[in-house]
Formats: sequence, structure tokens, C-alpha cells
Amino acid sequence: MHEGYFSAGLDADPELAEAIGGELRRQREGIELIASENLVSRCVLEAQGSVLTNKTVEGAAYRRYYGGAQYADAIEALAIDRARRLFGCRFVNVQPHSGSNANAGVFLGLLKLGDTILSMDVAAGGHISHGHPATLTGRDYRIVAYGVNRETERIDLDEVRALAHQHRPRMIVAGGSAYPRVIDFAALRAIADAVDAYLMVDMAHVAGLVATGLYPDPLPHAHVVTTTTYKSLRGARGGMVLWNDEGLSARINAGVFPGVQGSVMLHAVAGKAACLGEALQPAFVAYQRSALENARVLADALAAHRLRIVTGGTDATLLLADLTPLGLSGDIAAKALERAGLAVNKNLIPFDPHPPEAPSGLRLSSNAGTARGFGVAEFERIAGFIGRVLAAPDDEMEITAIRNDVRTLCAAWPIY
Ligand SMILES: *Cc1c(COP(=O)(O)O)cnc(C)c1O
Repeated sequence: MHEGYFSAGLDADPELAEAIGGELRRQREGIELIASENLVSRCVLEAQGSVLTNKTVEGAAYRRYYGGAQYADAIEALAIDRARRLFGCRFVNVQPHSGSNANAGVFLGLLKLGDTILSMDVAAGGHISHGHPATLTGRDYRIVAYGVNRETERIDLDEVRALAHQHRPRMIVAGGSAYPRVIDFAALRAIADAVDAYLMVDMAHVAGLVATGLYPDPLPHAHVVTTTTYKSLRGARGGMVLWNDEGLSARINAGVFPGVQGSVMLHAVAGKAACLGEALQPAFVAYQRSALENARVLADALAAHRLRIVTGGTDATLLLADLTPLGLSGDIAAKALERAGLAVNKNLIPFDPHPPEAPSGLRLSSNAGTARGFGVAEFERIAGFIGRVLAAPDDEMEITAIRNDVRTLCAAWPIY
């Protein structure tokens, strides 16, 4: 064993330390607007970087296959207990390594190979893990996709109902990665009941809002709810499954392990416990309220810069902006914004005439900026920066000037 093995830290690996240091600098000096990201607390960071990475456990807490699991059991039980309290549900599985794994585990547990799943089209804001042809779920199940209404750009319940009756799915999936509006979970449950299907809601992007009562709660309506823990929930990387019906427990748990994954990433479970503990504090309600307000302010301010906001606004902490009025592609816009220190992702808009590589839209979120401390005034400034970049995406002098303004704003709201 080399000297310093237990003490040196990242200094022992300058090449890696330089890259991680660069990422820290990027986070410090840039504005993160990507909806699938957030800035975790030092507490979550430490939990995920802890000695728990050394421990291997399989199976449920208190019923492990390996010994030495007393602390592992306590940590997983803590995460489960906190998630149950936060979301007011009876059962939680905190082991999924990711949101996609949570979904795949539920499918494997509750469905048979070849069963039909009715889920939202990725092109309309759905998520690839809901059966995109390029994924395992797309190969193992028969996928029927629903979209949004061309006029309202919202889920068309009549279309969902018609497809459900036509295709008789075993499961209906709701929730997406670029859908900014409230979803009528009660109506979807009624459709599911009419065709004897399960309703699964993937609340990845709105989990923090659901936890704080700022977005409709899917748990009273869905048979099973999945989520990630690192988006609006502002925590550890990974996923969770939540449900109320004890009759589903054995199949859901077996779908996650050994169905789609092996031993537990206990460091990630500790990170989940940490963020769930934070989410139970009153400060988290304030954070979510602010994030929601900031997203709406950002949407309105971008509209004033001639971007068209898909659906006309947002009920969540993310929004979709259509660049068509500016004659710009999402690809060029995202690259120019990145040069100015503003991280966003290009995104398809509903009925996008352009391909995913150069789509018409951008997806933006207030999650990370709000975690940093930005309020309404800062998000108005951010919209101003975005407007300036998009007005002159090729003007490197202007981009450099905006980059400096972004750095100045970030310096006033330091992280870590
Ligand atoms: C982000 C997201 C996921 C996937 O999560 P991974 O952790 O990347 O696997 C699943 N579903 C929805 C709706 C998401 O937005």
C-alpha cells in the first residue's frame, strides 16, 4: 500500500484533482439552469463521499445477506422513514441507483414481458426510461405513446383515454422530463381503472414541490410513484419508489433487487437520508416556494425577450422556451449560452419540426440557482443575460462581456 493511502486525499492524483477542481470552478463561476441538476448541501456531499462506499449489502434492511450491516440497516431505515414522512406514504424503496432503475424495477416487478405500457412520448416531454425504443424497457414491453394537444401543448386526456381503450395497457405512465404543467392524476387513475391498468407516476422533476404541497400529490391516485432525488428534491444522485398498497410490496422490491440491480449503493442511500432530512425542515418549503416563483419570473422575463414559453408558463421549477421567434436553433443557443457561463440544455418542443440534435427549444430551471440563493431580482438579471446572448450569439465580444457579468453575479452568491 502506498504511503498516504488513508490520508492523502485527491492530492495523490493531481490529474484527477485538476479535473474535479475545474468542475468546482465551473459550478462556482457559472449559472446552472439545467433542470436535472441542483446544488446539494455540504451535508449531502459528505454523506455521499463517506466510508459507506466501502460497505456492500444486498437485500432489505435488517434482512441482509452479508454481516456487519447494523449501521447500513440504520441508515437505510432512516432514509425510508424520512421519505415516508415527507411524502406521507406507507412504503418506500430507496435503493434504485437512478431514476431509470426505479422505473425499470417497477416495470419488471409489476409487468410481464411484452405487456403494453402507455406512456408519454419523449418528443412531447416524456422520459426515455418510460419505454423509448433505444432502451431495455422499449425492447421488453410494447410501448404506446401519448402526446400533448397541439393548441394547448398540454396532455390531452381524451387522447390518453382513447389510446387506453384501444390498446388495453397493463400500465399507464405519467410524468416527464420536459413537461412544465400540473398533471391530472385523478383523471389518469380513472382511465387506468377503466382498463384495469396500473398507474405509475414518475415525479422526478416535481418531487420537491410535491413534498411541500406546491404541486398535486400523485400518491393518493397512483399505484406506484417513482422519483429521482437529485433534481427539485435537491439531494443525492439516485432514485426511489413509493407506494401505499402492501400487496405490491414484494413485487416492487424484487423488481428493484435482484430484478434490475445488485448490491446497495449505501453512500448514495446515506445521501438520500441527508437530503430527505433537509426536505423535512421548514427551510425546504421556503426553498421550493422561491424556486417556483423564480421559475415563473424567469419564464415571464424570457417572454419579454421574445422567447415563446411553451404552454405559456409553468407550474413547476422548469420551463421550456421556444426559440422560433428568434430564428435560432436550440443547439446554437445552448452553445452560445455556455460560452457566457449559462448552462442550459437544448430540448425538443412539442411538434418540433427540427431534429433532437438541433431542436427548437431550450429547457431551463430555477432549481440550482435558487439553492444558491438567487431570488427574483437575480432571475430577472439572468433572463437579461440570456436575452443579450440570444440577440448576438456570434458576437464574442458581447459574450465575453456577459461572461464577466455572470462571474460577478456568481461571486456575490458563493458556493462551497
Ligand atoms: C431525470 C429523470 C429520470 C431519470 O433519471 P436517471 O437518474 O438519469 O436515470 C427518470 N424519469 C424522469 C421523469 C426524469 O426526469
